[in-house]
Amino acid sequence: AWSNCLEIIKDNVSLQSFKTWFEPIRPVKLQNSVLTIQVPSQFFYEWLEEHYITLLRKTIKKELGAEGKLEYSIVMENGTSNSKPYTVKIPTTNRQALKNDPVSVPLDVNKDHPIKNPFIIPGLKKIHIDSQLNPNYSFDSFIEGDCNRLARSAGYAVAKNPGGTAFNPLLVYGGVGLGKTHLVHSIGIEIKNQHPNKTVLYVSSEKFTHQFIDAVRNNNQNDFIHFYQMIDVLIIDDVQFFSGKEKTQDVFFHIFNHLHQTGKQLILTSDKAPVEMQGMEQRLLSRFKWGLSADLQSPSLETRIAILENKMYNEGLELPKEVVEYLAYSITTNIRELEGALISLLAQSSLNKKAITLELAKQMIDKFVKNTAREVSIDYIQKVVCDYFDLPIELLKSKTRKREVVQARQIAMFFAKRMTKSSLANIGMHCGGKDHATVLHACKTVNNLIDTDKRFRTYIDELEKKISIQ
Ligand code: ADP
Ligand code: MG
Repeated sequence: AWSNCLEIIKDNVSLQSFKTWFEPIRPVKLQNSVLTIQVPSQFFYEWLEEHYITLLRKTIKKELGAEGKLEYSIVMENGTSNSKPYTVKIPTTNRQALKNDPVSVPLDVNKDHPIKNPFIIPGLKKIHIDSQLNPNYSFDSFIEGDCNRLARSAGYAVAKNPGGTAFNPLLVYGGVGLGKTHLVHSIGIEIKNQHPNKTVLYVSSEKFTHQFIDAVRNNNQNDFIHFYQMIDVLIIDDVQFFSGKEKTQDVFFHIFNHLHQTGKQLILTSDKAPVEMQGMEQRLLSRFKWGLSADLQSPSLETRIAILENKMYNEGLELPKEVVEYLAYSITTNIRELEGALISLLAQSSLNKKAITLELAKQMIDKFVKNTAREVSIDYIQKVVCDYFDLPIELLKSKTRKREVVQARQIAMFFAKRMTKSSLANIGMHCGGKDHATVLHACKTVNNLIDTDKRFRTYIDELEKKISIQ
């Protein structure tokens, strides 16, 4: 029975989540429609409860029928070594008791209610729909940084006055894992807070497309259009998915026009700027440009650290500061990966009952980023160089011309040019606001010294090793 369950679960979570959270589970027994599974630790149990409970419930119901129940048995920590795996602040009251008694999860499948049938009787004025907003993705948990300031504040303005600003549509664009989905949920949630009577709907472009195809098949396109035309705030995620889908673009165009003309708000996301979107009808692209396009960029080191700290706070976790910094240094481009690394680290520590140390973090990160061809960051290079010469990193980033700082800065520039894809201008900006000519000059100087000064050359070799090991 459990292996059937696993099949279902596998289709519903990412491969990484599956490996992390479901493979370590062992089925123990099945008796009177109660399936007992063994999880490796309390932490596992809590994580499953918090993140996968709906999926587990549904799966069990599918497999064992309405009577089905799930019980957990938690492997006890036998209190031997001093390895304290991690600190978990348990949010609800009597979790402690669960260590001894397996827990029964009542099967309450009504808790989540996706719109099974989004079509409503035409003519009905006010509609009540589930907005499909994820409460975890609120503004409170969206960390602000230079990388998202414009998009965030435009989003906030829209939330205050949906349909009433020049930002209509609001198009949020940027690479994967930079927070587009999170931000548009935040806007939706804030609108619900400030304007409880407004009908807000979040839908992915993919779901929209499938709903439309179904409507065409069942011959109720009009109901489909009616439904969408009655929404006050329509949030459509990943509109690049509409590329090359002419019929869907047509119907979206009509809905867009209707909503826009009646002062309703549209919020869209895309992985590209409108000018770069391929396979999209011109008239739709020109509509996208009516409002505001705001991009999300890769977060700076400070923002990455803040995001990790916030995430840990929300999950009730504590990690050594050096580990958090190491994660933030190593994973530079994508917030989803950053969170993925944090979670894998927790799982690892829980599974092996090892404390989370810098050592463990390094081992894990090495495995984690192997397939993603990681590039070292300028920040990281600067840190290693400063550690090596025992200089505060602020000095290196400042404009000071002190001799020992100038040389360290030149070395950092040299490595940044060699080991990252950053432009000379960008490197200069990170190193005390110098221009690209200064960076080029620095590289020449360092190359000359390597050729002429033996001791200097040893420095460079050692540093290079340190930077590439990470
Ligand atoms: P995208 O839709 O651009 O691919 P997501 O919105 O799914 O990215 O974000 C990926 C992950 O990163 C999510 O878990 C999200 O909560 C988190 N995240 C993104 N931006 C921020 C931010 N500014 N503050 C906190 N968490 C963020
Ligand atoms: Mg997304």
